[in-house]
Order: sequence, then structure tokens, then C-alpha cells
Amino acid sequence: MSALSHLTPHQTTVFNLLKTLESEVSAQTLYAELRAQKHRLGLATVYRALKHLQLQGVVQARSLPNGEAVYSLVSEEKHYVTCVKCGTSVPLEHCPIDEQTMPQAVAPHFKIFYHTLEFFGLCSPCLEQETVT
Ligand SMILES: [Zn+2]
Ligand SMILES: [Zn+2]
Repeated sequence: MSALSHLTPHQTTVFNLLKTLESEVSAQTLYAELRAQKHRLGLATVYRALKHLQLQGVVQARSLPNGEAVYSLVSEEKHYVTCVKCGTSVPLEHCPIDEQTMPQAVAPHFKIFYHTLEFFGLCSPCLEQETVT
């Protein structure tokens, strides 16, 4: 993506770290990981870099049920089903959205970077607990 040529060194550092991480991470986790790797970025800088990367369309964020935001690269787009009780979050195998036609149909004046989709409910163990008690 050509947008990446506009990145500052800090933004590049954050982007490269996100690239090496397997899962979604919070800004706090990124910050701790950067410190462990001897990078001297402040937490505010990490947040700013993440925001900028989001504006470039290369990083996506979503909020967990506990309110924490987690970040990942857009290329690793996944959808989730999340339990509202225990917070278990499981990626979906299949995307039901048609990437080609949906954006034009619903938001013709937007340049779409990515989409997210998340289902909420109760996981099996939590559902069992709810019906027992
Ligand atoms: Zn649950
Ligand atoms: Zn999708």
C-alpha cells in the first residue's frame, strides 16, 4: 500500500511490531513490547501512531466487552463472535459480507479501508450457567 510511504519512524516501528504479532493487542501491550525491545516511545506516541495508521487504512481497532481497544493490521481482518458474559472472543471462519458490492451499495461516497463484523451472545458454558441458575 503506497500510503505507507507517509509513515514517520515511530509509526513504522509500531506498524512493524503489529506485523510480527499473531493476535490483536492493546496499546498498553504494544507499549510494553516496544519498551522490552528498547524502543523509547511514550504511550501517547503509541496511541498517536495507532490513530495515524488507522487513518491510513492499514490498522484496525475494535473494542472488547471490557472497553479495551485492541489493534491489528487490516490485512489480518477477522470477524468475531464474542460472549457478553465471560468475554471469550472467537474468530469466524467465513465472512458473510461481499467486499465488492457492499461498500458501493451502502456508502458510495466513502473510500472503504476495511470492515468489521462482530456477533454478541453467550458462549456454551455461560449459556449453561445461565439456564442452571
Ligand atoms: Zn462466555
Ligand atoms: Zn468480512
